Amino acid sequence: MSADPVIPLLGLTRSELGARVESWGFKPLHAGKIWRHLYLEGRTDWETITGLPIKLVDRLQADTEVGWLPITRETHSTDGFTRKYLLGLRDNHQIETVLMRYSGRVTACVSSQVGCAMGCVFCATGQMGYTRHLTTAEIVAQALHVDRILRATATEDPALAETDHESPHHRHERLRNIVLMGMGEPLHNYDAVIKATEILREPGGLALGAKKITLSTVGVVPGIIRLADEQQPIYLAVSLHSATQEGRAALVPVAKKWPLDVLMEACGYYAEKMGRRIFFEWTLIEGENDRPEDAHAVGRLLQRVPGQVNLIPLNPTNGYGGAASDNAAAKRFQSILAEYGLPSTVRQRRGIDIAAGCGQLATLED
Ligand code: SAH
Ligand code: SF4
Repeated sequence: MSADPVIPLLGLTRSELGARVESWGFKPLHAGKIWRHLYLEGRTDWETITGLPIKLVDRLQADTEVGWLPITRETHSTDGFTRKYLLGLRDNHQIETVLMRYSGRVTACVSSQVGCAMGCVFCATGQMGYTRHLTTAEIVAQALHVDRILRATATEDPALAETDHESPHHRHERLRNIVLMGMGEPLHNYDAVIKATEILREPGGLALGAKKITLSTVGVVPGIIRLADEQQPIYLAVSLHSATQEGRAALVPVAKKWPLDVLMEACGYYAEKMGRRIFFEWTLIEGENDRPEDAHAVGRLLQRVPGQVNLIPLNPTNGYGGAASDNAAAKRFQSILAEYGLPSTVRQRRGIDIAAGCGQLATLED
């Protein structure tokens, strides 16, 4: 047995696993079998894999762990569309992952950090402060966790599970979409997050399309530029919330570090280099940023950047007193954006009864 620390398999890319297997003196083709067993079958009983040398099974058992995260608490929304999982980490911290069903597809809302350092005033994660970055394995584990839930649902009640016509090999409903919109700021933890997206996209594994992964950032400018320079194929959402530097800095303290004009320049650079539009998120707060003049300001601001605006009526959190805009205000906002040719959507409010809505994730007792 080596003196190396135990390796979490979920933190390895397919080629890293191959290199590891080879370094132990086995043929790299075995890595493919292990990979499929783990990601396609959702199994870790290595001894059942046909043709896998017993010495390799021993090695896997001694030197690796999968990196599953145990469920500490599970809550289901009353409408049945949202499930929130509190998952335990090795160092006893906890994170939240949300399973959402929107019009027939399943999306996992995945966390990137324990807490968050960015301090947005209306966000429960921001209100709890920053503890640490998640590792790649901890990020991948959240997605696999949701995929396993779907697998288990299919076994318990096949009638409930849709057959996935796109992947005929799998009779269970598969995880199709991931949004990096859980706890934390993903671009503050760039390397671990991007490596996780690479693992999740790997063919022969979860094989998620790059267009099925959306990363949401508060506006970490160097990270946005790096995504563009590296041509990372995932989708980008930028949390805007205000179209003036002053207004934004009041809601999003990190706007003082990366002011609005610098952020918009980075967004323009990204959109041009990637040849695609950006989603701009706007938490709608009554009387704060939902007035007609706010909508006109967004319309003007986004003239030069191809974008779409996702309006998110404020979800309640303990540390912020603001109220959500009503439907009429959201509609009015949308129609003004339309005058500028800006497409927009209003996010469906889901999972609010279990504090699983945007910005409500925190691991303190609610
Ligand atoms: N840190 C990243 C991603 C996680 S937050 C970011 O800030 O973009 C995901 C989204 O939820 C962001 O757009 C954020 O602004 C929004 N959000 C945070 N708190 C919210 C709340 N209380 N109500 C509605 N949306 C909220
Ligand atoms: Fe962090 Fe995003 Fe919450 Fe801001 S909104 S505190 S960046 S998780």
